[in-house]
Amino acid sequence: MAFGHRYTGLIERYRDRLPVHDDTRIISLGEGNTPLIRLNNIPRELTREVEIYVKFEGLNPTGSFKDRGMTMAVTKAIEEGSRAIVCASTGNTSAAAAAYAARAGITAFVVIPDGKIALGKLAQAMMHGATVIQIEGNFDDGMRLVKEVASNTPVTLVNSVNPYRLQGQKTAAFEIVEELGRAPDYHCLPVGNAGNITAHWIGYSEMAAKSSDDVTEACSYCKGHCKYAGGGMVGNRPHMVGYQAAGSAPFMRGAMVDNPDTVATAIRIGHPQSWDMAWKVREESGGWFDECQDDEILAAQKLLAEKEGVFCEPASAASLAGALRDIREGKIQEGSTVVCTLTGNGLKDPDTAIAQSVIQPAKVPAELDAVSRAIRDNLV
Ligand SMILES: *Cc1c(COP(=O)(O)O)cnc(C)c1O
Repeated sequence: MAFGHRYTGLIERYRDRLPVHDDTRIISLGEGNTPLIRLNNIPRELTREVEIYVKFEGLNPTGSFKDRGMTMAVTKAIEEGSRAIVCASTGNTSAAAAAYAARAGITAFVVIPDGKIALGKLAQAMMHGATVIQIEGNFDDGMRLVKEVASNTPVTLVNSVNPYRLQGQKTAAFEIVEELGRAPDYHCLPVGNAGNITAHWIGYSEMAAKSSDDVTEACSYCKGHCKYAGGGMVGNRPHMVGYQAAGSAPFMRGAMVDNPDTVATAIRIGHPQSWDMAWKVREESGGWFDECQDDEILAAQKLLAEKEGVFCEPASAASLAGALRDIREGKIQEGSTVVCTLTGNGLKDPDTAIAQSVIQPAKVPAELDAVSRAIRDNLV
């Protein structure tokens, strides 16, 4: 980046590819531009040669990829004269909505499930001054309710059914292609409402499109908002692979799930809002859906933290848990490049992290002897 250049967020960076005007007031917290980290240690333990990158979306301003969508959704809400936004959330959407509303100087209403929300996410919504409405129900109940409220109240709905959300989120695919010089062979993501997997497919499709006619054709997802054609800059698009938590896997059941349950609270969703689009993404990309057990998800979260120094939240680790299994089973082919999206930051959910840590901190007197011994005993 040029000396003296300040990164001011993904709308500025990809202005020509997003539905904004020259005089649009942009609401940004510098989201996007997240690191694509090449895994060094985990692949060494695999018997098959595969290059794995993780796109660490947990390093966005509020700690999840939701910021990419929220900068667009709130920017457009302001442009359209809205004074308030509303969302249902398993936590991260509410954190992002609260922060961007604060930045814009408007009101945020967030509807969250009673319990089963990671503590960090609740803290964020409260600190940013959102009105938090905790319902005696799950995310799907909340979603149904906010859709209804938004249809007859002057508040803008900022869940991923808002098409501007996906427009913002597609930029993650742009960043990946720019860094790799091509699209990966496989792109693995955790799937809840399936907005993000759809958004990435939009982004990849735009980069591969030869002309803007091509884009409109390729992109029946964007409700007319896509306008960029990469001029066929990249020749390939990845297989899109979506992993769900086994207790919350409507795409595996082929039907909505009424009482979803998983430790990965961010994907504890039984009625995905982007159901039809995600099936289409799977078909067009030659990808697939699969499910991971909670213990597999937590093991992948720990592995990533322990072997690579990357701390993501449980839901995020579903992408790596599934990818590692599919690499071992040969479903992901030898010699390929895989990107796993790590959707959120591990600091969001300290309770789950501590609960699964088998080694508790050693308690010793505050004396040199004791501390020295504790270190020497554990040197390998
Ligand atoms: C929102 C979220 C997801 C799910 O994304 P969808 O677009 O709903 O499929 C996954 N992981 C984390 C951490 C999230 O916040």
